[in-house]
Amino acid sequence: MRQIQIAIDGPASSGKSTVAKIIAKDLGYIYLDTGAMYRAATYLVLQNQLTAENVDEITALLEEYPISFGRSEDGEQLVFVGDVDISHPIRGNDVTNNVSWLAALAPVREKLVALQQQIASQGGIVMDGRDIGTVVLPQAELKIFLVASVEERAERRYKENLEKGIETDFEVLKKEIAERDYKDSHREVSPLKPAEDSITFDTTGVSIPEVVAFIEEKAQKILDK
Ligand code: C5P
Repeated sequence: MRQIQIAIDGPASSGKSTVAKIIAKDLGYIYLDTGAMYRAATYLVLQNQLTAENVDEITALLEEYPISFGRSEDGEQLVFVGDVDISHPIRGNDVTNNVSWLAALAPVREKLVALQQQIASQGGIVMDGRDIGTVVLPQAELKIFLVASVEERAERRYKENLEKGIETDFEVLKKEIAERDYKDSHREVSPLKPAEDSITFDTTGVSIPEVVAFIEEKAQKILDK
């Protein structure tokens, strides 16, 4: 059967990963969380106490400890650097608050984008991130840009953090999300923005099943063509 590429972009906590995961499962496609890759690279950089001044060292580190994905016994996606499972530490505040400066470095993006494109060449894929529709998969058959109010996105992340046992202050979280959006949208290389041929969907007040249904309906139309 014909398989397509689905690109889901949008700001932090707009529901991308949650819906992308469900859609990939429903369609039997690969799911790729590209944010997890930038987070993994950030984790490595922080562990090695590097800064934006150390671009050569950072790319060397990415060569030495390749980022890869696996699956836990209960089906959760796991993220590795080298052979170390860093799925949990990459969700911590330290990584979250440093990822935007690292993601703004062109040589880092080049490496990660090449890996993302290589994974996408293996078949049907649902990929979520910031530049999937614009840079990574400009030829994707379906491009979705998810947005939601900062208030609602902060509430979602707050609940997620609580469930994961990560302590957070709601107002601080809201400020951090707004700051990350600003940095991601205003960087020079591959800024967060909708592709010209993407469909923007505001998920404020919309349930996850409703967002999934909207995207799957669009995908089905393309598959039926
Ligand atoms: O999606 P998530 O919030 O986990 O992404 C973490 C960070 O990784 C983003 O704030 C952004 O700086 C970076 N990112 C990116 N390009 C992508 C995916 C994520 O620059 N395709």
